Amino acid sequence: MFGRVRFVLNETSHPGNVGSAARAIKTMGFGRLVLAAPRAGAGILRDPEAIALASGADDVLANALVLPDLDAALQGVSWAVALSARSREYGPPNADPRESAALAVEHAGQGDAVAFVFGSERTGLSNADVERCNALVHIPANPEYSSLNLSQAVQLIAWEMRMACLAHERGHAPGAALATAPAVLSPGAAQHEALATRDDVEGMLAHLERALVDLDFLDPDNPKKLMTRLRRLFAKSHLAREEVNILRGIAKHILERRMRR
Ligand code: SAH
Repeated sequence: MFGRVRFVLNETSHPGNVGSAARAIKTMGFGRLVLAAPRAGAGILRDPEAIALASGADDVLANALVLPDLDAALQGVSWAVALSARSREYGPPNADPRESAALAVEHAGQGDAVAFVFGSERTGLSNADVERCNALVHIPANPEYSSLNLSQAVQLIAWEMRMACLAHERGHAPGAALATAPAVLSPGAAQHEALATRDDVEGMLAHLERALVDLDFLDPDNPKKLMTRLRRLFAKSHLAREEVNILRGIAKHILERRMRR
């Protein structure tokens, strides 16, 4: 379970934060740290400040993956959670840290990789980065000063994930932790049905987008927020793999009909 959880730091600047994040996740039993496009490049892992602050988690630091962008960092992940110090008008459904950990464990429990994505020190995550994820989490800190240090945000989420993973291992019924989650976040898929992965949903959205352009429903020169709204709709509905296949089938038929004409 713990091995299926990735902590992704996007465009991080400070080596000290990378070292501290390594320590934060190791103290909670995790070991997968992924850096997407760190400002200083892959050398950040060997920075003396990173090594000093990682302390006994130097192995996590040394084994961290450095990837060119967020898409690469999320490859193979079926459930991704964006962490934001700010609230957003658009984007995936909101959850609090505890609810998001319960849901992530539900995905990990069926064998899927899950990721928590943290933004850069200066600008946080862009809207486009947030949209790549299935849920958006804000740590409900002091409303007058709610921006935590990056590695401290990692620590808090790692702790919530540890609690959720241990509860799962103790044999709490899957979904039991979800009893308190809002309906908008409870899985829509019937029990025992395989949930679609992020890659499945991204592939379906690209397919659907082509079909909507073909139907003249979507104007590629003036797309407005249509795909963003659809992304949000599908994020809310916890699609099963089978349901993604139905949607792809519909898109396929739309595109084929046009070709026959
Ligand atoms: N100045 C940035 C904040 C950067 S803090 C901004 O305005 O967005 C660095 C990262 O730590 C954030 O991108 C987020 O991933 C995480 N973080 C900090 N405080 C948080 C909070 N209250 N809730 C959720 N994530 C938080």
